[in-house]
Amino acid sequence: MLKQVADGVWVRQSEWVLSNATVVRGEDGLILVDPGIDGRDLNELADDLARLAIPVVAGFSTHPHWDHLLWHARFGDVPRYATSAGARAASDARERGQKMAAESASGIPLELLGLVTPLPADGGPVPGEVIEHQAHAIGHAAVLLADRGVLLAGDMLSGLLIPILDPRRPGQLAAYEAALGRLEEAARHADVLVPGHGAVAQGIEVAARFAADHAYIDALRREADPADERLGPDAPWLPVHQRNQEAAREG
Ligand SMILES: [Zn+2]
Repeated sequence: MLKQVADGVWVRQSEWVLSNATVVRGEDGLILVDPGIDGRDLNELADDLARLAIPVVAGFSTHPHWDHLLWHARFGDVPRYATSAGARAASDARERGQKMAAESASGIPLELLGLVTPLPADGGPVPGEVIEHQAHAIGHAAVLLADRGVLLAGDMLSGLLIPILDPRRPGQLAAYEAALGRLEEAARHADVLVPGHGAVAQGIEVAARFAADHAYIDALRREADPADERLGPDAPWLPVHQRNQEAAREG
């Protein structure tokens, strides 16, 4: 079910890692940001879109991880965009993404995964400001819809997942800190924050998301225990936390 979070902005959450698909009304129609995840989700999203009765004109992928590169034929054969670096990485890793998608969720149209092209310099049909940064994944971008007071954060600032560094690239701690700084600046124009996974944050919860991610990254830097609520004893991302610690030590 689509939930409206601001004027012309709707979110549908999947069961799979509470992934958020975001629907944004642009000038000429709807833009789907990171639609997901399994076949049933994508079908239901198509039903929801049919009820809105506004055509889908484009897609946007916040970053080139498989769960943010999905599509369904019912959304239409429209251009799907990412940053230039994101589009390149998505194409390079397409087969790997298809394999991971097939192993992780059912009914995903694998042949449509990762077919993204670089966003034109003027943003084309994607409204707002695309904020590209170097944290989490190559070519990762947030989208600031300042006129609606909404920041779409991709895989940053999740209340569910801890920050996930990109272990394949050096300097991820600094990259993460820089990205949080840029998103914090952007969030001055937003009172709704939509992360890629987990609950949408509103009002004072937005600042709390930044505080939690800053605290986690600071702890990695100090090689201290992050004492993070998202890291309980059963948290499935404990291995990710260990990888983060290794990446932080390597600098
Ligand atoms: Zn994700």
